[in-house]
Amino acid sequence: MTDDVAVVGAGLTGCLLACYLARRGHQVVLYERRPDPRTGVAERGRSINLAISERGLDALRRVGLEERVMADALPMRGRMIHARSGEVSLQPYSADGTRAINSISRGALNNTLLDAAESASGVSVRFEHRLTGLDTGTGELTFATPDGETHAKARVVFGADGAGSAVRGQLLAQEGVDETLDFLDHGYKELTIPSVDGEFALDPGALHIWPRGTSMMIALPNPDRSFTCTLFWPTGGTESFASLSSPAAIERHFRDYYPDLVPLAPNLVEDYLANPVGLLGTVHCTPWQAGGTVCLIGDAAHAIVPFYGQGANCGFEDVVVLDRCLDETDTWAQALPLFERRRKVHTDAIADMALDNFVEMRDKVASPVFRFTKAVEHA
Ligand code: FAD
Repeated sequence: MTDDVAVVGAGLTGCLLACYLARRGHQVVLYERRPDPRTGVAERGRSINLAISERGLDALRRVGLEERVMADALPMRGRMIHARSGEVSLQPYSADGTRAINSISRGALNNTLLDAAESASGVSVRFEHRLTGLDTGTGELTFATPDGETHAKARVVFGADGAGSAVRGQLLAQEGVDETLDFLDHGYKELTIPSVDGEFALDPGALHIWPRGTSMMIALPNPDRSFTCTLFWPTGGTESFASLSSPAAIERHFRDYYPDLVPLAPNLVEDYLANPVGLLGTVHCTPWQAGGTVCLIGDAAHAIVPFYGQGANCGFEDVVVLDRCLDETDTWAQALPLFERRRKVHTDAIADMALDNFVEMRDKVASPVFRFTKAVEHA
């Protein structure tokens, strides 16, 4: 099988998939709705640093990308819990304190993977191509581009276009394809702790957590010695993002609930007012594939809430499992249903675990019982 393959979405999963398919000898075209992210400026408040764990590293290692990715990574060997009193305590991820998860900027990771895909033999990338139509029977694709509508055709089409997948939208038009989207009441907002005199303001060897019941904040270190904080809170209601609008109210709230953050985040109020609130949800879809020619992968098939730090790791693992299915079969029509059968049970499980871990992270990480029963997240 060395067919032409279209991969819609040059995010984390789509780029890695292109690398794996190129290694198998396929001609791959990656279509991405955005302009080339390597030439632009990151969207404000959407930087997101990810925790990449062994699950994801294994997938990168198999195509020789682990070292390049890890060059930008910062290992975090435990959770640092910040109590409301300002007291901090470290919960190591392993008994000997050596096991770590890795803080990596999503943008930097995407750029590394784009470089790898683009330099792989047989892969070409088309930016500013937003999928608007797909004939799942013939593999004809329609894109909106700055120069108007354009068309392409592929033997096999992968939808690696994220939680709001347009490919999934096209599959839904088919009888028997079903999706459920469960949004959380909570959204997220990014805040920043800059470096102080060129040094980290907090311990960079830990994932920092401020568990506060209905709200929770985490902070992960960046190579420029800043931290990106992500505040999780309901999007509406009396205790929510919507309830704080004036600089004085924002300052008061953080002094009350996150007192040790305030002196470390000089642009707190500005960040809070300027940065958007992102939505969080779980996507379930069945089936993931149609006719052995169109298939969803990564968040497009199974977006999950981020509380287990496993969304991108799972997208990477999807690629490894698909690769194995291609090894074990002779046709796409055999490989794609096998991929779904093998993989969906696991992605359904991690979706539930991620929701459970939200309750644990915001409520229970400060309890002594939890420390012994649940010392390792992001396994
Ligand atoms: P995406 O990253 O969404 O990429 C999809 C791509 O498709 C994008 O480039 C998009 O522009 C493109 N696209 C979309 N529509 C179209 C179209 N119509 N035509 C063409 N292109 C299109 N995961 C972890 O593993 N660890 C973590 O610690 C972690 N933390 C997270 C924290 C937060 C706050 C959030 C929101 C997520 C987190 N995740 C984490 C999840 C992770 O970000 C996602 O699982 C991962 O980005 C999914 O990759 P993907 O390539 O499948 O989809």
